[in-house]
Amino acid sequence: MDNFYELATRPSAANRSAAGPHIAFPEIVPTAAHPETPGTLLSAHGVEKSYRKGKHVVPVLLGVDFEIAAGEFVAIVGQSGSGKSTLLHLLGTLDAPDCGEIQFEGGRIDNLPTSSRDLLRNQYFGMIFQFYHLLPELSALENVLIPSMIAEGAFRYWRNRRQHRERAEHLLELVGLSHRLKHKPRELSGGEMQRAAIARALIAEPQVLLADEPTGNLDSKTGEGIMEILRTLNADQNLTIVMVTHDAAIASQADRIVRLAEGRVQAA
Ligand code: ADP
Ligand code: MG
Repeated sequence: MDNFYELATRPSAANRSAAGPHIAFPEIVPTAAHPETPGTLLSAHGVEKSYRKGKHVVPVLLGVDFEIAAGEFVAIVGQSGSGKSTLLHLLGTLDAPDCGEIQFEGGRIDNLPTSSRDLLRNQYFGMIFQFYHLLPELSALENVLIPSMIAEGAFRYWRNRRQHRERAEHLLELVGLSHRLKHKPRELSGGEMQRAAIARALIAEPQVLLADEPTGNLDSKTGEGIMEILRTLNADQNLTIVMVTHDAAIASQADRIVRLAEGRVQAA
């Protein structure tokens, strides 16, 4: 069965953009076990996941099938504890399923070695979370630059530092934070921290944005501003977005709503 090792070891996003915006993906033979709907970018097939708590096994996902097309904006909804974050982590290879498969561009990714999963995630997946996860000692600009430093290594990063900085500033401008470049997270509002986190998630030019309750810690007006940014990214840049939320008003702004209950995707 195919995996994504070859894909995961492709040049970094910075190299890709230097060479031209779209270098074709290497040919990946779709996995015979799970033929996908044409146009599918990311999918889960029969995914099961349990957590162990001492002697107890807590089943969370009991067989999730899910497909997202390239350019789609999907909201995953469900009650607290229904496994939304668990599913998002599995889609983003932050964790591996007990059973079933995750595919990206038709290649299996859940069974990659950890180092390849890390590469794949850094290059193709952007992530944002309810509590932003910004580094407190760094400015907004430095937080946005961190993924480039990690991806490039110190020497290459230093050589290309002006380009990186310009791109980070451009992204911060895109999310409406050009007046807050030097502010540290504690000097930013919740909405501003989430904007910085979105800019950070975009620095590597990801194909997919995975968002876990991105408005969960914000008042509704501020949350609306974040949604506006996500909708614009989806519409203008064709960014594929999978967003977890328990808020029906927020979910209704996506193209499609996928409901998780009792460990499975419920029929629409
Ligand atoms: P949601 O995001 O829908 O609120 P989660 O995916 O976070 O749900 O969690 C689903 C269930 O799995 C919950 O009952 C939660 O307590 C449990 N769970 C999540 N992560 C872990 C973990 N690392 N260890 C043990 N149990 C966990
Ligand atoms: Mg959650």
